[in-house]
Amino acid sequence: MKKEFNRRITLTEKEMPTAWYNIQADIEDLPQYLHPETLQPICEADLAPIFPPEIIKQELSKERYIEIPEAVQDIYHTYRPSPLHRAYGLERVLDTPAKIYYKYEGGNATGSHKLNSAVPQVYYNKIAGIKRLTTETGAGQWGAALSMACDHFGIESMVYMTKNSFVNKPGRRTFMSAFGGNVVASPSQLTKAGRDVLAKDPECGGSLGIAISEAVEDALSRQDTNYALGSVLNHVAMHQTIIGLETQKQFEKIDEYPDVVIACVGGGSNFAGLTFPYMRDKLAGKANPRIIAVESTAAPSLTKGVYAYDFTDVGHMCPVAKMYTMGASFMPKGTHAGGLRYHGMNPIISKLYHDKMIEAVAYDQYDTLSAGLLFSRAEGIVPAPESTHAVKGAIVEALKAKEEGVAKTIVFCLSGHGYFEMYAYDALLKGQLGDSSTDEQSVAIDALPKV
Ligand SMILES: *Cc1c(COP(=O)(O)O)cnc(C)c1O
Repeated sequence: MKKEFNRRITLTEKEMPTAWYNIQADIEDLPQYLHPETLQPICEADLAPIFPPEIIKQELSKERYIEIPEAVQDIYHTYRPSPLHRAYGLERVLDTPAKIYYKYEGGNATGSHKLNSAVPQVYYNKIAGIKRLTTETGAGQWGAALSMACDHFGIESMVYMTKNSFVNKPGRRTFMSAFGGNVVASPSQLTKAGRDVLAKDPECGGSLGIAISEAVEDALSRQDTNYALGSVLNHVAMHQTIIGLETQKQFEKIDEYPDVVIACVGGGSNFAGLTFPYMRDKLAGKANPRIIAVESTAAPSLTKGVYAYDFTDVGHMCPVAKMYTMGASFMPKGTHAGGLRYHGMNPIISKLYHDKMIEAVAYDQYDTLSAGLLFSRAEGIVPAPESTHAVKGAIVEALKAKEEGVAKTIVFCLSGHGYFEMYAYDALLKGQLGDSSTDEQSVAIDALPKV
């Protein structure tokens, strides 16, 4: 057998990029956010009650590169640069001529890429004098990352966790509590948004759209409290570009450039993180990789939703965004264990998809978790259910390369590990995984704002 080199391509701390890439500098005619009540374009002052000045600036910035603060770089160095792996094991199992690489973001304490944005968000709130942060969490990774970052900077955290996850994921809850986070099941009795939902449906299992409304309402009710969002918004996408910027340096080291770049999409942050630096090259005409977003058939906003202005939360308190959406009141099926449940999509990704700069595909949880199991045995890392969508996407492309007999280079984002989500694999192994695919009828777009 021939020697397999470059199994794990690493960078030193000194080689870590020191600025994020802000793709807004390279995209024209990006639709503006609208105020949820007036439906007029928002201004910085509209966001000031819930976000610190630096985050607002980043959300609307046209500057191409934004320096990563020293204090943030210091924490990044505790777990970054993250490794780029060559998936020799998976290539062998698939018997493909394709070279498969994955950028592994699960190697920090919280187990996913979410920490990349939690750290700067908490930092900017800290220097703005904020004492307490609220947020939503679905699967629990974002709540875990925010609790940990808040603990580091000495800020109190309050996490509204969708009720289904709260019940099914006690390990995640304990993790947040261990880092001093306060966690409550959403919908809760603590906010008007939560009480309104419970009045209509006492058994409601929750959704990210509801949890966001609760967290925003809480933040608006207190001077010392701000809100932090784990995905969807542009500043979150930008913080995650550290993933793709590192990946590009790693590929430079081995003198390769990928033909296909793949990531899963919920709200879009890890996808933006890996792919926006490649999109920069594509927009500049320097390279032309295929860029593929893989979503869940349980919440297929890109492949089954509409491109329209919509509310980003159920309570209509957050900015209205032009995006691919299933409707803010969309509810994924309770049988869904695979993550990626948000009703909308980051506005920049939505525009790029609309402009046909990226491709999108949806797979159901049986297919993705099965791909995750295959990957686990081939590579020795159990992927997060969300990440198994990217794994599935990469496998499909590698098998296509085999059919065509071409040695393509494929890279995907392994956004996190699945060691807290064993119940999903358990259901798969026991043959108890239900069908969670959504049909066109459940697209809840009758209540779009009239813009
Ligand atoms: C949250 C999460 C996702 C989905 O969120 P995006 O913002 O779309 O990246 C994907 N993978 C993991 C591991 C996550 O924790």
